[in-house]
Amino acid sequence: MIKISLPDGSVKEFEKNSTPMDVAKSISEGLARNVISASFNNTIVETTTKLTTDGSLILYTWNDKEGKKAFWHSTSHVMAQVLEEKYPGIKLTLGPAIENGFYYDIDFGDQKITEADFKTIEDRVLEVSREKHEFKMRPVSKVEALEIYKNNEYKTELISNLEDGTITFCDHANFFDLCRGGHIPNTGLIKAMKIMSVAGAYWRGDEKNKQLTRVYGISFPKQKDLTEYLELLEEAKRRDHRKLGKELELFAFSQKVGQGLPLWLPKGAALRDRLEQFLKKAQKKAGYEQVVTPHIGQKELYVTSGHYAKYGADSFQPIHTPAEGEEFLLKPMNCPHHCEIYNTRPWSYKDLPKRYAEFGTVYRYEQSGELHGLTRVRGFTQDDAHIFCTPEQLDAEFKNVIDLVLYVFGSLGFENFTAQVSVRDLNNPDKYIGSVENWEKAENAIISAARDKGLNYIIESGEAAFYGPKLDFMVKDALGRQWQLGTIQVDYNLPERFELSYKGADNEMHRPVMIHRAPFGSMERFIAILLEHTAGNFPLWLMPEQAIILSLSEKYENYAKKVLSLLENNEIRGLIDNRNETIGKKIRDAEVKKIPFMIIVGEEEEKNGTVSVRRHGQEGKGNITVTVEEFSKIVSEEISKTLKPFIV
Ligand SMILES: [Zn+2]
Ligand SMILES: [Zn+2]
Repeated sequence: MIKISLPDGSVKEFEKNSTPMDVAKSISEGLARNVISASFNNTIVETTTKLTTDGSLILYTWNDKEGKKAFWHSTSHVMAQVLEEKYPGIKLTLGPAIENGFYYDIDFGDQKITEADFKTIEDRVLEVSREKHEFKMRPVSKVEALEIYKNNEYKTELISNLEDGTITFCDHANFFDLCRGGHIPNTGLIKAMKIMSVAGAYWRGDEKNKQLTRVYGISFPKQKDLTEYLELLEEAKRRDHRKLGKELELFAFSQKVGQGLPLWLPKGAALRDRLEQFLKKAQKKAGYEQVVTPHIGQKELYVTSGHYAKYGADSFQPIHTPAEGEEFLLKPMNCPHHCEIYNTRPWSYKDLPKRYAEFGTVYRYEQSGELHGLTRVRGFTQDDAHIFCTPEQLDAEFKNVIDLVLYVFGSLGFENFTAQVSVRDLNNPDKYIGSVENWEKAENAIISAARDKGLNYIIESGEAAFYGPKLDFMVKDALGRQWQLGTIQVDYNLPERFELSYKGADNEMHRPVMIHRAPFGSMERFIAILLEHTAGNFPLWLMPEQAIILSLSEKYENYAKKVLSLLENNEIRGLIDNRNETIGKKIRDAEVKKIPFMIIVGEEEEKNGTVSVRRHGQEGKGNITVTVEEFSKIVSEEISKTLKPFIV
């Protein structure tokens, strides 16, 4: 008998040579139907692998990342089988699962696969799948494996790097492939499959090697899942922040200014400003003080901070001046500047914590191929702040920062998020600087703060930076995509490097602890994510324009102006469309601009001192006629639902 422990902590006895599928069956028939992959003692196994020793077993279904991985990798075997059938003589190389689906890199020789071929390949993959072929692993000796693949230089290279005795093939139907394992029980589970694209890819990612054809695919256990996935992709395209940014006239790029350097247009700048004011107001309440620091600093500053040693070579290179030996760097981080602000005078423990905040613009070199809209840029503004406190204050400070981050998320409509606490790898103590005692204090402070604040969090050991543990927030957007937003980081390194100190109650000098934090992360990336999350329908308080006044004809222009000034008195941002166009055209244009309220004024309205209100995206349903006062009340009530004051 062998003892198998399961993730819920239970331990059960099984006959030797039982399989993960046997274990699943012993738990429930329902589980057995859904199990598609497993890991035993942290190694991926087949559901049919015979277990011969005690150990811990995890069973995966489609809902697990590992389950999807096995599903997609297995489909890549079936696709490879079909491609070999259709294009005899092609050379297979590697076919792994990726984040969404899988690919197979193939040397097609003189043959070529095009989009016109996709459909027949997909149909044949499903036909083979319906035959319910089992995936079976088989050991093969190195000599034999090399003989089998003697005409495939890629597989030969892979096999040459493997130890004899560890080489396995996977069989299904009449097809085999060199493979380490990790498959679903049989092909019958694959109910939907699509080839997404083909692209060139160098063997082993090295451009000196031969270029292969990478065939990307994805598969699902239900046809419905594929349909939903394709719809999601379409929606993501519609919401692409680069497209919306252009349509809403928020930002632009100019080749003349330079790649990765966004230009904020008036509406985008106003949006940024509103976000900044919103955070500044909350930060003021939370005891932060605004500071301003320059965009460049002496190279020495970053030598002291350690940034130069770490990033110097891959960054913007030093700026030289006419003076000999004078070198400056574009600011890659605000922290060193803030440390020097702290150092401008002596502090007592009674003065702490000090909280310095700055919307600080930083510059980091990214390769041009890595640049992407506002999410990967070369110059961006962080909503940065650094808190300098005593070790005893860390706990409370951490909780305050969490409150602020949650306030930001709530006000901007991010409701679905989780937190990750990154702590030390206890097996590698040499990797970290700072005393063990301080690390323990900081890690406990973060974990208890996360728990007390009711966060849904996970702890990742070994994920901490060398200088301190951290807490990251991951938000899920409206399309279910996960983004890392907002980070809170404890740092013992910079206070040491900049020799920061304060006088303690014991009259001795001590080092403060430093917290880096940025709820948005950066203005650029945050606005990109917010654009894609809301599809440009920002919370009402943030909209560049909240209302547009559409006059039925020029005759009502004066009344339109009067309405606008009344709205402005109520702090509602509006504008007038007084073009000589039909009302239908004006409405269509306002819809494209996603302006929340369209205010139609004509003879009736002028006579009665009212406005007709139409909402964006509602095709005229629920239009109402109210006085300007009543309309202002509707707007302010709606705003107060999302934008509440920050309470400390
Ligand atoms: Zn495989
Ligand atoms: Zn910092």
